[in-house]
Amino acid sequence: MEIWDVIIAGGGSAGLAAALAAARAGARTLLIERQSKLGGMGTNALVHTFCGLYHPDTSRPWAWLNPGVPREIGECMMERTRQTAPDLMGRVYVLRQHPSLFACIADELCAAEPQLTRLSGAEWCGLKPRDNGWQIDLISCCTTQTHQTKSLIDTTGDATGARWLSDDLWIQADPAKLYRPAYVCGLPRVTGNHDENWRLTLGATIVRGIQEHSLPETAAGAAFRDSPFPEEMFVTIDLEAGQAQWDPLDPVKRAGIESVGRHTAMHLWSYLRKHHPDFQHCPPPNLPAHAGIRESARYIGDHTLTGEELEACVRNTDDVALAGWPMEKRENARGPKFRFFDRPEPAGIPAGCLQNARIPGLFFAGRNLSADHEALASVRVMGTCMATGQAAAHLALKHA
Ligand SMILES: Cc1cc2nc3c(=O)[nH]c(=O)nc-3n(C[C@H](O)[C@H](O)[C@H](O)COP(=O)(O)OP(=O)(O)OC[C@H]3O[C@@H](n4cnc5c(N)ncnc54)[C@H](O)[C@@H]3O)c2cc1C
Repeated sequence: MEIWDVIIAGGGSAGLAAALAAARAGARTLLIERQSKLGGMGTNALVHTFCGLYHPDTSRPWAWLNPGVPREIGECMMERTRQTAPDLMGRVYVLRQHPSLFACIADELCAAEPQLTRLSGAEWCGLKPRDNGWQIDLISCCTTQTHQTKSLIDTTGDATGARWLSDDLWIQADPAKLYRPAYVCGLPRVTGNHDENWRLTLGATIVRGIQEHSLPETAAGAAFRDSPFPEEMFVTIDLEAGQAQWDPLDPVKRAGIESVGRHTAMHLWSYLRKHHPDFQHCPPPNLPAHAGIRESARYIGDHTLTGEELEACVRNTDDVALAGWPMEKRENARGPKFRFFDRPEPAGIPAGCLQNARIPGLFFAGRNLSADHEALASVRVMGTCMATGQAAAHLALKHA
């Protein structure tokens, strides 16, 4: 059994930031990830913009919101994509990111940390209290391993540890309200200028395809965005996913949305190749490793961040990170509904959202932190996940 100062389960944007922060502070750190790439939804589900990295006041020049790892990853991405500023989209700043570059940046940053050991293709599959800390079981290449730590950070996005420990430590929204899953794919060699008129024509082409029954109805949920590189676009297909029956923790339901997503993506590709001149040279789409899950289970911490607190830009004495992204609610496949903060100022995320006094030594960050369904619509974005991951590492180090 190996003993670590800090173990982080889940190598998405929150887990990556937590692992870097812990290792840089000198802690012997183990990062466990079931996929081969780090970056979570930002690599494996092809989510392609970093939101929440910048101060929410767009009447002023853009400025980083949270220091440390979120800023460092944002700067690396800007440098490699040759962007000198984020895009101003309506009332928010966003940074276009490339999932392949994000995976490489994550590799390089982790490889530079001698105190950090990273396991890929390793599934965290068990948790027990042990010696005032935790015993972690994982399975990799059909073999099991056991590790021990004083401090554990759960950044799996699914409140995995809480679901093993006790039903009163986690919560999940009503299936009909859960933010919808989506299937994202990359489309290279899309010509044209991609301006507003171009998008209107593209939308009309898709509607016609659905009306003529050449495209499945799920294609109505498709939204196109430019990659940071010329002639590459990403298409995000929001899925109703059976609305009232959707359960992101049910592998059968997940398999269902995977195949609907792929089916829709392939139909869109072949239809647009025939019916839209700017798609005629497009090779088959780059498919994600898995569909994108916006919301599943969350921890119940000492503090549950609410939509009202975010809206009122509440700051607390024990804030450990800042949230600046509006609440972007996606309860159906008809696009987002935004709830903006009252003022162009960030709100605080207190330490209590990342820990629970009943489970000392267990911390949580990213999209499974302690927040209500409304607040999650803001704090689930990758810039904020990085900030809460980094903050969870600092809390874990104090404990270790
Ligand atoms: C379709 C879609 C569009 C989005 N658009 C944007 C956007 O434009 N901008 C933005 O900033 N955010 C966006 N988001 C939100 C954002 O991508 C996620 O909320 C964010 O990436 C969550 O980060 P995380 O680290 O908390 O979790 P994840 O990225 O989900 O990472 C969790 C990691 O844990 C691993 N894991 C889980 N269980 C285990 C286990 N048992 N053992 C080992 N590893 C495990 C997973 O493989 C994964 O890598 C979008 C999300 C979706 C789905």
